[in-house]
Amino acid sequence: MYPLFDAHCDAPTEIFRKNEDLLSNSGHVDIKRLLAFKNPAQVFAVWLDPKLPREGGAFESAARIISFFGEQIVKYKDFISRVTSPEDLAACAGTGKIAALLAVEGGEPLEGKLENLSKLREMGVCSITLTWNDQNELGCGCLGGEAGLTPFGFEALREARRLGMTVDISHLSEAGCRDVLGACKAPVIASHSNAAALCRNKRNLSDEIIRDIAEKGGVVGATLYPPFLAEAKVASIPDVLRHVNYMVNLAGAEHVGLGCDFDGIEQTPADLRDLSAMPRLLYALELMLGAETAEKVASKNFFRVFMETLKTSPGEKSPAAEFSTASLEISAASVGSSAKKRKKIMRNWF
Ligand SMILES: [Zn+2]
Repeated sequence: MYPLFDAHCDAPTEIFRKNEDLLSNSGHVDIKRLLAFKNPAQVFAVWLDPKLPREGGAFESAARIISFFGEQIVKYKDFISRVTSPEDLAACAGTGKIAALLAVEGGEPLEGKLENLSKLREMGVCSITLTWNDQNELGCGCLGGEAGLTPFGFEALREARRLGMTVDISHLSEAGCRDVLGACKAPVIASHSNAAALCRNKRNLSDEIIRDIAEKGGVVGATLYPPFLAEAKVASIPDVLRHVNYMVNLAGAEHVGLGCDFDGIEQTPADLRDLSAMPRLLYALELMLGAETAEKVASKNFFRVFMETLKTSPGEKSPAAEFSTASLEISAASVGSSAKKRKKIMRNWF
């Protein structure tokens, strides 16, 4: 079993931007620090900074980062393995190598076209966070308004599942989270979000969403960004423990994990400056929760949900079976389409 399964870091974007190396770099995550965990699993997200120009468009920009990162994996293949299927994930456990799962954070690279999602899957992308903070073609991010998924967002969700990708609702608006949870029967994850009940912030999740994620068999990854841990915006390990403990009590020990967001945050808890400090958190989790539950939070839960949601042969299984009729309940807030039009699109799926 993996000793650590971190569901979110932004290392690909960060090393691409700084033209650094995955083996060792000035950021929070690199191969040397990952290997201290002897066989960890790490989700590596590709994120496009909305402040930076996207030469050739969002898809091309993401593809450049994916290609750069892919070269790094090949270069260090003795230490790190690319995982694109449950078989890969199971096979890498116990090898001593890092299991690397690629994710896209924000649906902008789709550029409103489903075929771009297929291309990303072919490039090895395992998971998609539907939006970042703003509104995009798929829906409303948590800072982009109160609306949910767009009709295209629903289509992209369905296509992501058809392609065997894990769906991530971190960064989505509350209505967007409800839309995904209502439409998708398969477990979904919130790779890096905390509990809004402990720290009011639009990036954190309400109790209702956390419970719904758990009910569907999904996992919420507690995250380390201090403003999402404490309203004072300074944080340390006890704050992370508070969120983990709260979510374990609310959702159950099977539904909480870790999504650190290293390399995606400019500020970290004082005692968790980078990945090399994580053994401290793992130890504290064990003291608080006991070894068995701590192991679930540190790794087993995300391992289980990726094993369940990633599919070996994209497109093999009919997506219709995976979608619940609950998605016919259209949320009042919709982006760019009348509820009527939306309803029609939803009906076409069943
Ligand atoms: Zn993020």
